[in-house]
Amino acid sequence: MAARLIDGKSLAQTIRERIAKEVAELHAKAGIRPGLATILVGEDPASQLYVKNKQKACDAAGIYVDDHKLPVSTTQSELLALLDKANRDHRIHGILVQLPLPKHIDSRVVLEAVAPTKDADGFHPYNLGRLVEGTPMFEACTPKGIIKMIESTGVTIEGKRAVVVGRSNIVGKPVALMLLHRHATVTVCHSRTRDLPAVCREAELLVVAIGKARFVTADMVREGAVVIDVGTNRLPDGKFVGDVDFDPVSQRAGWISPVPGGVGPMTITMLLDNTLESAKRTAGQG
Ligand code: NAP
Repeated sequence: MAARLIDGKSLAQTIRERIAKEVAELHAKAGIRPGLATILVGEDPASQLYVKNKQKACDAAGIYVDDHKLPVSTTQSELLALLDKANRDHRIHGILVQLPLPKHIDSRVVLEAVAPTKDADGFHPYNLGRLVEGTPMFEACTPKGIIKMIESTGVTIEGKRAVVVGRSNIVGKPVALMLLHRHATVTVCHSRTRDLPAVCREAELLVVAIGKARFVTADMVREGAVVIDVGTNRLPDGKFVGDVDFDPVSQRAGWISPVPGGVGPMTITMLLDNTLESAKRTAGQG
């Protein structure tokens, strides 16, 4: 039987409508319009597109955007000075520093300079630490979106065998913690995992975030599993595919998210959600 589709695009649209409504309500009741500062250093075309899409989504939801496009020659201290201004700007409730930054800038130093109370991307060590503790203030956008996608299926997370393939700080580790806090039994895999197919086959919930086109094949998937494909890979012919071999895997899985139209739109939506939540906290409503 073919798997049911986890349509991230349509789920994201529903959530964006709710966000737009709440943004208008917050403005009407408390006089606060949620604001996001976007900071892009350099001219990487993919980063430019990501930032543009995030700004478009903010505009549509009524979120104020303070757009900063900086030349690639920007120094680390200039960037830190800009962050200091954004940290103190009352119109701003979330700050997005688009990664990757140019090589002469230390991303770690920059991400730590974002006020933890405005860390809409959830990358600050304070927020990662709170996630480990189980009391997150901001949850990183991609993992938060993944959890919402799993929840949208109606499949309960509690008690399930979950396998996360990939252990990055922005996807693998945080999503593993979020699943753990929801009482799944979680295994995290990486490039040194022995017999990865056997580990994956145990998964009732399988999240794949490695960045290798169509790496997860049908023989690696348990019948009926919920499969979330985080990967974004461009093939030589220009086609955009995930880390999961979609067609054969969808013959085995119970639920599967597509690429494109899966995790991507949810990530952007969670950035809006985090900015709104932050503005609500400012208004004493969070
Ligand atoms: P990353 O930092 O490069 O981490 C990749 C992880 O995959 C590492 O932990 C690595 O293991 C593991 N890995 C690599 N090859 C493997 C293999 N053959 N078997 C098992 N594990 C393997 O990547 P990331 O930032 O987490 O991103 C992963 C993918 O998700 C990328 O395609 C990225 O573009 C995509 N992504 C999409 C969104 C979205 O919104 N749609 C957001 C974020 C990321 P080691 O730790 O051992 O090296």
